[in-house]
Amino acid sequence: MNTDNNGTNPTDGHHPVTPAAPDLKPGDEAEPGTPGAAEDLCETCGGSGKLANGKTCPECEGTGRVMRGIGGG
Ligand SMILES: [Zn+2]
Repeated sequence: MNTDNNGTNPTDGHHPVTPAAPDLKPGDEAEPGTPGAAEDLCETCGGSGKLANGKTCPECEGTGRVMRGIGGG
């Protein structure tokens, strides 16, 4: 009578594994074009795009800018 396979139900395949935009940087709080979000200086590198040790800032990927979610609510 009981023929359902309990426990083993994989996702349908329509599920997006990574919801983040491909060009989103680690320091970005919002996707480009997001209403209420704006580009701002990266706090990690101070907008220079590089860290004190000369390496490229991982937060903004060297752009010196990240997307900030403003007025989130
Ligand atoms: Zn940075």
